[in-house]
Amino acid sequence: MITFLRLLTSKNILYTTFAFMTTYEEVFENNRAWVASKTNKDKDYFEKLARDQKPDFLYIGCSDSRAPANEIMGLEPGEVFVHRNVGNLVVNTDLNVMSVINYAVRNLQVKHIVVCGHYNCGGVKAAMVSEDLGILNPWLRNIRDVFRLHKEELFSITDEEKRYKRLVELNVQEQCINIIKTAAVQQSYNKNKFPIVHGWVFDLSCGLLKDLEIDFVATLKDIQKIYNLSNGSSMYGNEE
Ligand SMILES: [Zn+2]
Repeated sequence: MITFLRLLTSKNILYTTFAFMTTYEEVFENNRAWVASKTNKDKDYFEKLARDQKPDFLYIGCSDSRAPANEIMGLEPGEVFVHRNVGNLVVNTDLNVMSVINYAVRNLQVKHIVVCGHYNCGGVKAAMVSEDLGILNPWLRNIRDVFRLHKEELFSITDEEKRYKRLVELNVQEQCINIIKTAAVQQSYNKNKFPIVHGWVFDLSCGLLKDLEIDFVATLKDIQKIYNLSNGSSMYGNEE
């Protein structure tokens, strides 16, 4: 019996390993097929792609594997600059996201910045749980902070699923505000009238993007009552 179990286990391991290897190999097959499909349409495709990038969009989304930026926006490589993390957060002490925003605005001069959340977000769900989640605590606390900021509205929603979906939306809204607080965005907007910051939610159940229609100009004006960084020294100098 023990021998049989061992055999079964070892077969399972073999099968798992084999299945994993097959998937791994398929990635390279897929890659070669993708290269062929691009070069069949345009033989200079990769020569052009390698030259430079001039994306109009910066997309900040969740790391969730079901929400691929280019694909859901129908954009090609080179058309969207992407940053993803758990819960699509813009934390002002996170050097990673702040560097991405700074580079996208000041160097790439993107016209639009999108924060895209999604329903069925594990990060947002985890932040609604009353539990010590270890290393995730400080990261998810940013989402709990969003809940606290909007607790009257959220506690007034009795249906838990609806409350959770609303938190997904409010989290996107607050991350948009965090982007609008940055000097790079304020100074570029003063000078160029871009980038515009947008909040979206991707609905996994139907594949559609929902525009939360954040009023960028009104939000900027409101934010600048406290977080006005538009007149500091910058690569643009003093504007107005
Ligand atoms: Zn997510």
